[in-house]
Amino acid sequence: MMEKKIVVASGNEGKIREFRQMLEPKGYTVLSLKDLPDPTEPEETGTTFQENAILKARAVTERYGLDAIADDSGLCVAALNDEPGIHSARWMGHDTPYSIKNQKLIELVADKEDRTCHYACAIAWTSPGKEPVVFFDTWYGEIAHEPRGTNGFGYDPIFYIPERGITSAELAPGEKNIYSHRGKALRKLEVWMNENC
Ligand code: IMP
Repeated sequence: MMEKKIVVASGNEGKIREFRQMLEPKGYTVLSLKDLPDPTEPEETGTTFQENAILKARAVTERYGLDAIADDSGLCVAALNDEPGIHSARWMGHDTPYSIKNQKLIELVADKEDRTCHYACAIAWTSPGKEPVVFFDTWYGEIAHEPRGTNGFGYDPIFYIPERGITSAELAPGEKNIYSHRGKALRKLEVWMNENC
């Protein structure tokens, strides 16, 4: 199997691990931003998940001449015009604990009839001299009435899955990938890579 290098343009260990599990069996040596000299993360100036994912992957491909993958994701709340959406990581400030962000979201939908929300994820692939490719998927749920569970991260304690009667922070580790926006977008990328890379 020929050795090919690909960079996962992320500093998030959880995301890097998921990508590594998929790509290493295909003969890829998976690098992260930390393996590159003097890495910088570009500003997320796009107006969609897809644009931001491409922007992050392209920054690596253009600077280092390597294939790259990047994802952009977030939680969209219907009653809040799909906010925090692409601003999910920065919403209420990057360093504000999720216990506070989650409480605020519960307050904001307290008087709303519609508590539906969805996670969204775009995953982009870029390669020198080629057009970027991007895959997108979603995961629908509701804003819970109170936070529950300790697995996952971010907004998971308030992402209620009606058909399971639990939040995504109560799913067993590993189970989340089966349903999640990121797991589904990743599987689309995997199918595409199997046919094209
Ligand atoms: P990104 O790293 O710029 O894509 O930001 C993603 C942000 O969206 C995270 O920091 C979380 O706030 C939120 N998010 C995305 N996916 C998830 C998830 O699976 N669980 C909880 N929060 C998520």
